[in-house]
Amino acid sequence: MPQLILQPGKERSLFRRHPWIFAGSVARLDGRARPGDTVDVVAANGRPLARAAWSPQSQIRARVWTFDPEETVDDAFFKRRVAAAVARREAIPGLAGQDGLRLIHGESDGLPGVIADRYGDTVVVQLTAAGSDKWRKAIVGGLHKATGCARIYERSDSEVRKLEGLAPVTGWLFGEASGTPLSIVEHGVRMNVDVVGGHKTGFYLDQRDNRLLTRELAAGRSTLNCFCYTGGFSLQALAGGAASVLSIDSSGPALASAAGNLALNPQLDAARAEWREADVFTELRALRADGRRFDLVILDPPKFAPSAAHAERAARAYKDINVLGFRLLNPGGLLMTYSCSGGIGLELFQDIVAGAAVDAARDARILRRLAAAPDHPVALHFGEGEYLKGLLVQAD
Ligand code: SAH
Repeated sequence: MPQLILQPGKERSLFRRHPWIFAGSVARLDGRARPGDTVDVVAANGRPLARAAWSPQSQIRARVWTFDPEETVDDAFFKRRVAAAVARREAIPGLAGQDGLRLIHGESDGLPGVIADRYGDTVVVQLTAAGSDKWRKAIVGGLHKATGCARIYERSDSEVRKLEGLAPVTGWLFGEASGTPLSIVEHGVRMNVDVVGGHKTGFYLDQRDNRLLTRELAAGRSTLNCFCYTGGFSLQALAGGAASVLSIDSSGPALASAAGNLALNPQLDAARAEWREADVFTELRALRADGRRFDLVILDPPKFAPSAAHAERAARAYKDINVLGFRLLNPGGLLMTYSCSGGIGLELFQDIVAGAAVDAARDARILRRLAAAPDHPVALHFGEGEYLKGLLVQAD
């Protein structure tokens, strides 16, 4: 087996079970390894530490499969890891019965570069690193065995593959598309899921619990849902008895899907919903100029900062929309505000929102800190896994 020899001192993060080995930590590679091959990770003093996937093109030069330097990384290893991830969800009461569920959440499930989401009897897998790409057969086989699903679609077209030197791969790996659109029921609301063309693997499963919170808060409230995508928060607000729901997104196709989702749910009062195709930054200013105010404002923007390098510009964008959000709130109104940027930590995000309240001249308090649903767990040794953070804030 080829050996990845670390620079002196660079073994420390591995003792803490952090799975990434950056280019600057690598002293040399002894032996030959192709992208995705398994290498032995060895400290500068010769001590064996782990087995990892070699990724020569990426700044994350290797991702650890196992911290047991003796453990064999083979098909059976991936079957075990996949089965364990699926079993973990089955053990959590709120998750077990979900139609739409993340089954594998990358590093936090001990499977760096592997995402798997289940929508009913369809599983969508996304492989984002050289190592996971290499083991696709074992991973997919493990998913089929652990779930008994009817079909598996590969959605390995995430931008991050480029950093690993991998081309996009998409298509049915097992079974094929059924004639009817794929849909799931979330908190009693039916939603179509476009696994082929939708964002991520088709749906923002990470916001499941926060959409339920929206439903609980919405009764009687005039609601503004910014960056609504296919209407997840909008429909839950309607289900919770919102007085009205104005939803904004810049994507026409997303809004068409949202309206289609509303039509799937005749129990909801469609007359209370309005969809608007617009840029949120512009539209919120226009709403303010028109004197519009809302009791509940939801801000769930796309990732403004994919990495820490973009944090400063992203911070300004977050601040901007949050100032506008506060200005559009009625007295006593609720702001539900999110960042899914890995490059913006929880503390920084809270600072940004606090700064926005000051600029909007509003006193406000945090009622709840919000995060991704528990099928998107954060391994204790992998803080990077905590990408989604949110605040529920009440303004005076
Ligand atoms: N809240 C959604 C997910 C939001 S994804 C859910 O629960 O499903 C982010 C959305 O923001 C996308 O639909 C994208 O089209 C939209 N978007 C990105 N930039 C925008 C902008 N400047 N103005 C309006 N919408 C924007």
